[in-house]
Amino acid sequence: MFFKSNFSYSNSKKSYSDLLLELDSGNIKSIYFYPRKREIDVLYKNGIKEKIPILYNDQLIIEKASENNVELTINNSRKELTSANSFASVGLFLIFLIAVVLILRSTSKLASKALGFGKNKSKFVTIDDVDTRFDDVAGVPEAAEELKEVIKFLNEPKKFTDLGAKVPKGILLIGPPGTGKTLLAKAIAGESGVPFLSIAASEFVELFVGVGASRVRNLFEKAKEKSPCIIFIDEIDSIGRQRGSGIGGGNDEREQTLNQLLTELDGFVDNSGIIVIAATNRPDILDSALLRPGRFDRKIEVMLPDLDGRKKILAVHSLTKPLSKNVDLAYWATRTVGFSGADLANLMNESAIHCAREESKFICDDHIEAALDKVTLGLRTSIVSSQNMKKIVAYNEVGRAIVSAVRNGIDSVDKITILPRSGYMGGYTKINPDEDTISSGLISKKLLLTKIEIALAGRAAETIVYGKNEITQCSINDISYATNVVREMVTKYGFSIIGPISIENSSELLIGDGFVKNKSIIADNTYSKIDNEIINISKISLNNAMNIISNNRILLEKLVDILIIKETIENDIFRKISSNLIKV
Ligand code: ADP
Ligand code: MG
Repeated sequence: MFFKSNFSYSNSKKSYSDLLLELDSGNIKSIYFYPRKREIDVLYKNGIKEKIPILYNDQLIIEKASENNVELTINNSRKELTSANSFASVGLFLIFLIAVVLILRSTSKLASKALGFGKNKSKFVTIDDVDTRFDDVAGVPEAAEELKEVIKFLNEPKKFTDLGAKVPKGILLIGPPGTGKTLLAKAIAGESGVPFLSIAASEFVELFVGVGASRVRNLFEKAKEKSPCIIFIDEIDSIGRQRGSGIGGGNDEREQTLNQLLTELDGFVDNSGIIVIAATNRPDILDSALLRPGRFDRKIEVMLPDLDGRKKILAVHSLTKPLSKNVDLAYWATRTVGFSGADLANLMNESAIHCAREESKFICDDHIEAALDKVTLGLRTSIVSSQNMKKIVAYNEVGRAIVSAVRNGIDSVDKITILPRSGYMGGYTKINPDEDTISSGLISKKLLLTKIEIALAGRAAETIVYGKNEITQCSINDISYATNVVREMVTKYGFSIIGPISIENSSELLIGDGFVKNKSIIADNTYSKIDNEIINISKISLNNAMNIISNNRILLEKLVDILIIKETIENDIFRKISSNLIKV
C-alpha cells in the first residue's frame, strides 16, 4: 500500500529479465506481489516504482527475493481485488439502475400516453363560446329547421315527455363533404344554450383494445354530469363501420368502441338529457345497429345546395367582403351547379384574393370569373359545370323517372334532381319504395325486372336522344346496380330459364365486411349459360326502357328543359306535367 501513496511509477518499462538481474545486483528495496493480478510492484532503492508482469505462480521471483533479502509482501489479493471488483460492480450496478430507471420512465410515459384513458378527458372539448349561429348556415333550411327543434327538446323536455313522446337520442347528419354538417353542429353549440361536447370519432381509435371503449364511457359520464347536454361526434364512420366477423384481426378495438357507443346510446343505463349528434358522408357503411330506432334514428340529410341555396351561401360568404354593386349573386349561383357550401366559400375567398392581387377596392365579376376558372379546374368531375353535362345528366334522370312512372305509377317518383350525390356520377331520382314489398319482404320477379328497367333507363334515354355512338358513362353506377340485380335473379332466386337453382349456396367465408366465396361446384357449361342469361335479361330490359321513353319523348324533353333550369323537380310538379304520360 505504501507504494501507492508515496511513489510515482517510472516511465521506463522494465522487463522480467531486467527484474531478475536487478534483484541479484541488490538495487531493489522491496517487492509487492499480486499473484492474482499476475504482476508485481517493484520499489527500487533509488525510489523508483515499477509494475512488472509475471507468471501466475511465479516461484522464481520469491526465491530470488529471499536469496537477496529483498522485502517481499504477498498481497492478500482476494480482498483487494474483490474490493476493486465490488467497486466496479457497484458502479456497473448503478449504471444499470440508472438505465433501467430511464427506460422505465420513457416507456411509462409512452404507456401512459397510450393507456392514459383516465387522464385524457381533455380529448373532447367542451365548447362554451361559439360564434356560429344558424344564420351563418345558408341553403340547407330543412336541416336547420330540424336541428332547431332539437334545441327545443333539450330546453323543454317536459313539453314532449308529458305527451308521451320520447326525446330523440341520436341525430345523424348525412351529406356530401363540405355541405355544412360540422357548421350546423357549431350553430347548435352557439345557439342551444346547453353544454356542448365535441369529439372527432377518430379520437376514439387507439392501438390498444378497450381504450376507445373507455373513452366513450368517459365522454358519456362527463356528459351526464352536465345534462342536459349535446355530444357531437364528427366523422362517425371511422368507428361506426359495419362490424364483421373479425377474421384477419385488427377489428377488435373498433368493435369494442362501437359496442360501447351502442350501449351508451340505448342500453341499460338511462342517458336521458343527452342528445348525440353525429356527422358522416358515408352512411352506407355504418353498422345497422347504430341506425336502429332508439339510437341514430333521426337522419337529417344535408344536401348540396340548390340554386336558391347557392345564392344565399354566396351572400353569407360575401358579407365580410367588399362586393361591387354590379355583382349579381343569383347569376353566379347559376354558374355553380353542384358546388357545395365549402366550394362556394372557397370561390368567394379566391375572388377576394384576385381582387387584392389587382389592388382593386371592390370584388367585381371579373374577379369571380377568374376565381371560378381556378376553382373548377381543380374540382371534382362530378360538378356539373357545363351546360352540355347538365343536359346529359338531366336526360338520364328524367328517363329513370318516366320509366318508374310508367311501371310503378306517377306517385312513385318522389324527386328528380341533377345535383350530384356524393361519390356518384350524375344526378339522383328518388323513387318511393313499394309499400307491399316493404311490408311483406317478398321480392317478385316482376319487381326485379322493373328495377332493372328503371336502372337502365338513363342509358336508354341517352341512346334515344344522342344515338348509339354518342352515349356517355353517366349511368355507370346504375348499370352496375342493374347487373347485380340480374345476377341475383339468375343465380339466387331462380327467376330465369336456367331454372330454380341457387349458385350462391357454396361455402362462404366471411371476412370483415365482405364475402369471399369459395368456388362452387358448378360446370363451366352452366357458367356460360348464366352469363348468356344475364346479358339477355339486361338487353331486353334496356329495350323495354327505350320503348317506354320513345313513347314519351315529348314529355322527356319538357321535363329535361324544366330540370335544367330548376335543377330539382318535386313530386307535385312532376305529377302535374306527367298527366299525359303514355303507358305502353
Ligand atoms: P362538412 O359537411 O364536410 O362538415 P363543413 O361544415 O366543415 O362541411 O363546411 C366547411 C365550410 O364550408 C364551412 O366552414 C363554411 O365556411 C362553408 N359552408 C359549408 N356549408 C355551408 C352552408 N350551408 N352555409 C354557409 N357556409 C357553408
Ligand atoms: Mg365535417
